Amino acid sequence: MTKPYADREIWFLTGSQGLYGEDTLRQVAEQSQEVARLLDASSDLPAKVVWKPVLKDSAAIRRAALDANADDSVIGVIVWMHTFSPAKMWIAGLDALRTPLLHLHTQADVELPWDSIDMDFMNLNQAAHGDREFGYVATRLGTARKTVVGHASNPAVTASIGTWVRACAGWAATHELVLARFGDNMRNVAVTEGDKTEAELRFGVSVNTWGVNDLVAAVEDVTDADVDALVAEYEDLYDVVPELRRGGDRHESLRYGARQEIALRSFLESVGAKAFTTNFEDLGGLRQLPGLAVQRLMADGYGFGAEGDWKTAILVRAAKVMGEGLPGGASLMEDYTYDLTPGDERILGAHMLEICPTLTTTTPTLEIHPLGIGDREDPVRLVFSADPGVGVVVSLADMRDRFRLTANVVDVVPPTQALPNLPVARAVWQPRPDFRTSAEAWLTAGGAHHTVLTTAVGVEAFEDFAEIARTELLVIDESTTRRAFREQVRWNQAYWRLAQGF
Ligand code: MN
Repeated sequence: MTKPYADREIWFLTGSQGLYGEDTLRQVAEQSQEVARLLDASSDLPAKVVWKPVLKDSAAIRRAALDANADDSVIGVIVWMHTFSPAKMWIAGLDALRTPLLHLHTQADVELPWDSIDMDFMNLNQAAHGDREFGYVATRLGTARKTVVGHASNPAVTASIGTWVRACAGWAATHELVLARFGDNMRNVAVTEGDKTEAELRFGVSVNTWGVNDLVAAVEDVTDADVDALVAEYEDLYDVVPELRRGGDRHESLRYGARQEIALRSFLESVGAKAFTTNFEDLGGLRQLPGLAVQRLMADGYGFGAEGDWKTAILVRAAKVMGEGLPGGASLMEDYTYDLTPGDERILGAHMLEICPTLTTTTPTLEIHPLGIGDREDPVRLVFSADPGVGVVVSLADMRDRFRLTANVVDVVPPTQALPNLPVARAVWQPRPDFRTSAEAWLTAGGAHHTVLTTAVGVEAFEDFAEIARTELLVIDESTTRRAFREQVRWNQAYWRLAQGF
């Protein structure tokens, strides 16, 4: 089985010290290699786990941290104190480490050999207090990390580590991310604004603008032969309505949609961008608001935000990378309208056009309908309903002095009835813990109306991502209460201001 991040490494670092002598250290090395091997062999771990020689002193630990920082293929570091590794030895290394950290609190064997246990065994297997010594120093230093407890053969342990590896890959991806904006934000909208300079420091993403007419020029350069080939692909992949098919009355509109896709793709490749935004108020010479093109680029892993919403585009890209190889998908989403039937409330999420078809395993229909805004020709778009299942919606808002992530765990459900007159892709969900609590909490948090909806990874991946990014995350899920959430929002104001210093 090929791992989703086959070219990425997680380093496995084992802490010990020279005190124990060569025999013990040889056993420490063997047993830690076995733990690393178990992790690497788990299908939950989406990157290669690489064992490194046992660390016995401060200089070696610092060197390992610097080497991890320097190697772009290393996206995370797992540490385990097999024996007692006096933790002042870890101060210089943890202070230097820039790579995401996971502290695995484990032991070589599952069961204690109760009938044969002696002091040699006790001295070899002392992570129970060795890891506590490490935890003290990491907490004292304020080191961001995930802590996972249990044996490496336990599926709950590998699942949790695997989720963290996905967050590390998302983190690496935002640091490699160039985000191309065609035009600015939608006029007068508040929540899609934000500090792009801070975003580059915080998430590593480079957010810049290109003139939409650069894209128009690229659309005009597309050859008819390329359009022919892509239209044939559409007819293979989707249920294309007759009027758009070859020979249909409106086939020319589909050809223009194909032209936009080819141009967008080649333009983004030419500037190295894996995420982008558009704005229906600023389409320049584009004849249609890009719908189909945006949907297909999202399906290929591009981040996207509508109306200039570059922050949501970052989230969509991160969710795409974190969910690689998993069932389900990720898309730009917008809480659009409600069914307020008491006790059975539902949120109908959609957008003007741009919902990613990775949210469905059905065959989308490819349709054309008028669009009331944007003042252009009718745009082509894929129409479908998202598959039922558990998902999470996440927004990123700029709170002046910091970014805030807000996440809500939701249950995507089938539409209550067929939607024969709704000409856009959509998802219908019921938020946890219930509609009233969820919506009140979301509004209290100041969460955005644009989100990423992902059904591929759960909220834990975003918790891990937020920890790595040292960014506030408010979670609304089955355990949320209105009173506690309101208080948390208040306390967080103070915490996050104090935490970043002056
Ligand atoms: Mn919108």
